[in-house]
Amino acid sequence: MTVRKPDVYTLSNAKSFDPIEIAPESEVRAMQERRLQEQLAYLKARSPFYQQKFAAAKLSFEKIRTLEDLQQVPFTIKQDLRDSLKAAPPFGLHGAAEHRDIVQMQASSGTTGSPAYVGLTAADLESWQECTARCLFANGIRPGDLVLHAFSISKGFVGGIPVFQSVQYMGAIDVPIGADGGADRLLIAARDLHPQGIVGTPNFLRYLAEVCQEMTGVKAQDIGVRKLCVGGEPGGGIPAIRAALQEGWNARCLELMGGTDIGVAYWAECEHQAGMHMVSPDYVLAELIDPATGQVIPWQAGTTGELVYTALGRRASPVLRFRTGDHVEITGTKCACGRTGPMIRCFGRTDDMLIVRGVNVFPSAIQDIVAAMPETNGVMRVVADFDGHTTQRNLKVLVERGRKRPASQDEALSKAVETKLRNSLAFKAEVHVVPADVFAKPGVQKVQLTLRNKAEIAQFYA
Ligand SMILES: [Zn+2]
Repeated sequence: MTVRKPDVYTLSNAKSFDPIEIAPESEVRAMQERRLQEQLAYLKARSPFYQQKFAAAKLSFEKIRTLEDLQQVPFTIKQDLRDSLKAAPPFGLHGAAEHRDIVQMQASSGTTGSPAYVGLTAADLESWQECTARCLFANGIRPGDLVLHAFSISKGFVGGIPVFQSVQYMGAIDVPIGADGGADRLLIAARDLHPQGIVGTPNFLRYLAEVCQEMTGVKAQDIGVRKLCVGGEPGGGIPAIRAALQEGWNARCLELMGGTDIGVAYWAECEHQAGMHMVSPDYVLAELIDPATGQVIPWQAGTTGELVYTALGRRASPVLRFRTGDHVEITGTKCACGRTGPMIRCFGRTDDMLIVRGVNVFPSAIQDIVAAMPETNGVMRVVADFDGHTTQRNLKVLVERGRKRPASQDEALSKAVETKLRNSLAFKAEVHVVPADVFAKPGVQKVQLTLRNKAEIAQFYA
């Protein structure tokens, strides 16, 4: 297994980490179609999940040879993978490698209480490292740099160990503190070690800049950090957030993006900061679709759509035409850096995901947990008393007490729910118990699990 890419220091002045990033479009397409055919042959032989999917759609694996042919293949959606994982743990019916060949597993935060697990063979792991290393290189990280790790390292998320491995693979040195280590330890490491780069979520890095002087006695802008590699949530591309980050750290803010179902990161901004390039077309075949119709949209500047991914070369946990729920705008198709992959900005997700101190939290997952506690009435609301989807504070949650339960036990109940949420979803909640049946019941209208109306929120905290 490769810890560091051989001869990686020779790449220090290269235009890109891999030549495919700057290859002509026709060459990329030919390579993708060849690798697509190989992948389909593998799935035909090894994946009961896709054998069933193709049979149900009356499709033959051999007939899918071009990018246009691929459009006949039905989408794989998150629920398919959840069902598959539930039916055959740990890696699901779509797990296509021998168990003995799996060298590593990772988890996504999932949209319900239980995470989605993916497996990696040794070759899969190397491809994850390669893709993510290309992103960090595009962001301006170079072999020999110190990179302060400010994504969460625990919980099995790809921002943790896989980012560590990728930093190591590209010849840089990970400073393994992690968001879990706390703002003070991260900032003390930054102050003492002067890392060239920091990886983390944009809102968390912004918060770190704000509290740096108070915690370390030194302003973040005086530490000498050059690159802020941000991902895990939209924000790094939002002008106000980017400006605050760059000013706060006196460093350049560059986005990177991916997703656990396929890898860590495979979209990344270059020094021109005009959107994230696709840097790994040899491992990820990305399509853009109209989310309403499912029709493929060409990669043209100014268009928007949802990203769909097909893994190429993947052995364990491969997916075909996976709908991500990530909504992006194409910001360009040509760049002075020479990279030929289209550039994107992600502006939102299909789901109502919230990010609480770097941890993805879906209101529906909280509801699932509350609903399973008989001492409650099974009804809850998340209090979004912040703009956007991200907060660095504890998440406020309102929970209806059980109908026969006295209010005198509210405190015990709120503690019980907080503990359960922390253990199951890995975030800290501030639970406030309210009387049974205060919230509207589900009806024709979809229940909004997230409260944003200030007046409505205030009545529960009077
Ligand atoms: Zn570029």
